[in-house]
Amino acid sequence: MLSDTVAVVTGGASGIGREIALTFAQFGARLVVADVRERPRTGGRATHAEIRERTDSTATFVRCDVTDVGDLERAVAAGDEFGGVDVMVNNAAIATDEEFFELSESAYDRIMRVNARGVFFGSRIAAERMIGTGGGSIVNVSSIAGLRGTGNLVAYCASKGAVRLMTYALADRLGPEGIRINALHPGAIHTAMSSDIGVAGADRGDRYERNTPMNRPGTPGDVADAAVFLASDLSGFVTGTSIPVDGGRTYTY
Ligand code: NAD
Repeated sequence: MLSDTVAVVTGGASGIGREIALTFAQFGARLVVADVRERPRTGGRATHAEIRERTDSTATFVRCDVTDVGDLERAVAAGDEFGGVDVMVNNAAIATDEEFFELSESAYDRIMRVNARGVFFGSRIAAERMIGTGGGSIVNVSSIAGLRGTGNLVAYCASKGAVRLMTYALADRLGPEGIRINALHPGAIHTAMSSDIGVAGADRGDRYERNTPMNRPGTPGDVADAAVFLASDLSGFVTGTSIPVDGGRTYTY
């Protein structure tokens, strides 16, 4: 489904990004894994090494902080060696347990720089290349916190809501260039991040699961499968939209 496709995945060393990269490679894509760290946050072998070992495809790692435009340019340029980027997955983000009245200015700025600004420049740098090669697909990983608000993640919600609207605006700007761009909105997914903020595998996580029609937390594979759809020609007329991957949590009660 993704053969002859070159994909760049930010935050691809761990969690959801790692699973997206591995799944894309299983479907034939060549991968650039772009991350501030090489190995997964939960330990184990680096994603690019795993792809080379376990699949018929290939991958490279680029050390990239998405707050640094030069790093993003190097990550996208690394795709040239494989034939040029066709799919950009802006997945890297951070989340901390936030207390609204205590969050420092620098912590707020950091959340917005990684989660929103990183997606803006990641999209622009990838789009510049895609225009030259006839188009592509950009997948932005937002969150259900980009669809609904929660009082203990105010800055994170602001950043993820920005990703959602940026996605719609960019679909309008980039559609005529042959570039599709969509947002994924995962619910609670078991990763290092969800453990950090206690939305999976903790008390709050249990409450979350009880309120989810599918009655379980999501897996990185659930998100990766939706990303394959958005990256592939199966979604050829899908752009400027949001797909929740949340077991039905967001639009039910
Ligand atoms: P994670 O913390 O497990 O992995 C995130 C990866 O991003 C790490 O490898 C980390 O090194 C990398 N990263 C962090 N800051 C970076 C930076 N400045 N530049 C480059 N890489 C950076 O997180 P995850 O749970 O896999 O989250 C992936 C995406 O899914 C994020 O956008 C997150 O907001 C979103 N999301 C996660 C959940 C969840 O429950 N896990 C729910 C909704 C949305």
